Amino acid sequence: MEKLEQLYEGKAKKVFRTDDPDVYLVYYKDDATAFNGEKKGTIVGKGAINNRMTNHMMALLEKEGVPTHLVKELSDRETLVKRVEIVKLEVIIRNISAGSFAKRFGVKEGIVFDEPTIEFSYKNDELGDPLMNAYHAIALKVATREEIEEIKRLAFKVNDFMKDYFKKRNIKLVDFKLEFGRLPDGRIVLADEISPDTCRFWDADTNEKLDKDRFRRDLGNVEEAYIEMEKRIFGENK
Ligand code: UDP
Repeated sequence: MEKLEQLYEGKAKKVFRTDDPDVYLVYYKDDATAFNGEKKGTIVGKGAINNRMTNHMMALLEKEGVPTHLVKELSDRETLVKRVEIVKLEVIIRNISAGSFAKRFGVKEGIVFDEPTIEFSYKNDELGDPLMNAYHAIALKVATREEIEEIKRLAFKVNDFMKDYFKKRNIKLVDFKLEFGRLPDGRIVLADEISPDTCRFWDADTNEKLDKDRFRRDLGNVEEAYIEMEKRIFGENK
């Protein structure tokens, strides 16, 4: 597989074309942004950890019956993925109150919900990813009703699996963001990434934050948090 020209550069990843029109190459950077790009920085080693962790989680999810865009890990920062058209929704699942949820509803972080919640935001940087409900998404043709039903089903399935997976590693899965894509035949698959950039992870004993909130909130030990999450998943194997 040959790496051809860059198609797109996002905040944390670059996407390249390959000699297979149905396969793209994703490159994970160490760049970090927060607050819709207002805060910028570098988290040394993040790209490699996020690449490895995303691919590991997606491979496990495939086995659970969640289709993903994953094709093959090529190197510590590069992965081949299926070409998809990204559905312009950020899909957020929450098990515990935190972040924008705590702020919006004026509640503290750390409230454990009886059932997970789901919400969508419209993936649009200029607008700052506004909250969007299913009716809005259908009205604006962001997704069809059937696609939204499928996305909800898959997102809760991802949560069921990941909550349990991280619990076994003494981690609380607080919340996370997923993105989905459409394959050329229209099927919905999980895309983007699953990493400390896109999930909130708290140590189950101490509630210590082991995710990008350490960067967002200037809590220090940012790199260490990513390394700790890598260890919880892969052990000490480098
Ligand atoms: N999230 C993300 N990208 C975004 C917004 C949120 O990956 O553009 C993730 C975030 O890391 C957290 C979850 O989605 O795990 C919920 O984020 P929230 O809505 O609380 O927003 P935040 O407080 O991060 O702005």
